[in-house]
Amino acid sequence: MQLSKHELEQRLGHVYDTLIVGGGAGGLSAGIYLQRFRLSSLIVDKGKARSFWMQELQNYLGLPPGTRGRELLQHGKQHYLSLNGDLLNGYVEEVVDEGETFAVRVKVGRQDSIYPVLRAKYLIAASGIIDYLPHLDEMQNVYEYAGYNLHVCMVCDGYEMTDKQCGFFAGSEASIEEMIFNLSWFTPYITIFTHGLFPVSTKLCQILQEYGYRLIETPIKQFLGQNHQMTGVELVDGSVIPLETGLISMGARYHHHYLNGLNLERKGGYLVTDRLARTSHPRIFAIGDLKVGLNQVAVAVGDGAVSATQIWKELRHPRKWIE
Ligand code: FAD
Ligand code: FAD
Ligand code: FAD
Repeated sequence: MQLSKHELEQRLGHVYDTLIVGGGAGGLSAGIYLQRFRLSSLIVDKGKARSFWMQELQNYLGLPPGTRGRELLQHGKQHYLSLNGDLLNGYVEEVVDEGETFAVRVKVGRQDSIYPVLRAKYLIAASGIIDYLPHLDEMQNVYEYAGYNLHVCMVCDGYEMTDKQCGFFAGSEASIEEMIFNLSWFTPYITIFTHGLFPVSTKLCQILQEYGYRLIETPIKQFLGQNHQMTGVELVDGSVIPLETGLISMGARYHHHYLNGLNLERKGGYLVTDRLARTSHPRIFAIGDLKVGLNQVAVAVGDGAVSATQIWKELRHPRKWIE
C-alpha cells in the first residue's frame, strides 16, 4: 500500500525481504516481480526523475511511440500496489550494512520532515541519474522544451532529429568529440553551443570546420519557441539562431549519494554490476540507468526482472505439505 506517516510507524519493526530505492521503470519492474515471488518489498521514491520527465517513450515494444513516462509510472504503481507492495514517497539519505540487514534512513516530507529507519535483507539501487541542463536565468524557459524537442538522450531520440537543424548543447570537449560520431549519424546540420562554459582547442575547432559544424561560444540568453516546441536560441549579444531540434549533453548527476559509506565498485559515476545486476556487495543490486550499461526503459525493466528473480532464488526454501 501507499504508506502514510501513520502506516509507516507500523513498518518500523518489520524487516522487508528487499528495499528498492527508486520507483522509476527499473524499481517498479523489480517490485512487481518480487511481489509475485511472494517476497515483501518496499519501494522508496523521491519522484521527479528521468522516467517522469520523459515526455515521449519512443522505442518500447508494445507501447505506442509517444507514450508519456508519467503514464508508464502510473500503470506501474497501480500494478505494484495491486500486488500489495509497499510504496513510500521519500528520499533515501543513508544505507548502513548491519550484517544480516540494511538500515535505511529515509527523509519523509520536504517540510516538517521525519527520518524513519527501515530495514531489509536485500537492497536494489534503482535511483537512476538526472541530466544536467543549461543553467539560464529563467530556468522554466529550459523546462518548457527539455524532454520535448530539446532532447537529452541520443539513443532514444536520435531518430527524432533526422536531418533537422539541430543545436548541440555541450558540457565538455569530450561530449563534442563523441557527438561527431553519434549525432551526425542522424543529422549533419549541427550547431554546437558551449554557453561559454569551457574553451575548445584549436585542433577540435579545425575538425568541426572540416565537417561544417558551427561552433557558438557566446552564452545563451534564452531558448525560443512555443507550446513545448523549441524554435531557436537567443544569445546574450541579442543574435538569434533558428533551430528545429536540440540535444543536451552536459553530463548527469548520479543518484547514489546514499551508498557512499558502502564502498561499491564504480566506473565513472555508474555502479559496476555482474550479469545478474549484482554490485560488488553480495546483497546489493543496481539496475537501470544507475549501473554501467544502456540507459533505456527496456533495459531497466529487464534488470528489474533479473535482479528480483535472483533475490528470490537466494531467499526461497522448500515448503513441506506435512507438518
Ligand atoms: P528513473 O526512471 O530515473 O527512476 C529512478 C527513480 O529513483 C526516480 O523516481 C527518482 O526520483 C528516484 N530516486 C533517486 N534518488 C532517490 C533517493 N535518494 N531516494 C528515493 N528515490 C530516489 N528511454 C527509452 O527507452 N526510450 C525513450 O524514448 C526515452 N526517452 C527519454 C526522454 C527523456 C527526456 C529522458 C530524460 C529519458 C528518456 N529515456 C528513454 C531514458 C529513460 O527515462 C531511462 O532509461 C529510465 O527512466 C531509467 O529507469 P530507472 O528506473 O533506472 O531510473
Ligand atoms: P533533488 O534535487 O533530487 O532533491 C533535493 C533535496 O530535496 C534532497 O536532497 C532531499 O533532501 C529533498 N527531497 C527531494 N525529494 C524529496 C522527497 N520526495 N521527500 C523528501 N525530501 C525530498 N524540474 C522542474 O522543476 N520542472 C521541469 O519542468 C523539469 N523538466 C526537466 C526535464 C528534463 C528532461 C530533465 C532531465 C530534468 C527536468 N527537471 C525539471 C528536473 C530538475 O532538473 C530537477 O532535477 C528535479 O526537479 C529534481 O529536483 P528535486 O528538488 O525534486 O530533487
Ligand atoms: P519468441 O517469442 O518465442 O519468438 C521467437 C520467434 O522465432 C517465434 O516467432 C518463432 O516462430 C521464430 N522462429 C524460431 N525458429 C525459427 C526459424 N528457424 N526461422 C524463422 N523463425 C523462427 N514471459 C513473461 O515475461 N511473462 C509472462 O507472463 C509469460 N508467460 C508465458 C506464458 C506462456 C504460455 C509461454 C509459452 C511463455 C510465457 N512467457 C512469459 C515467456 C515469453 O513468452 C518469452 O520469454 C518470450 O516470448 C521470449 O521472446 P523471444 O523473442 O526470445 O522468443
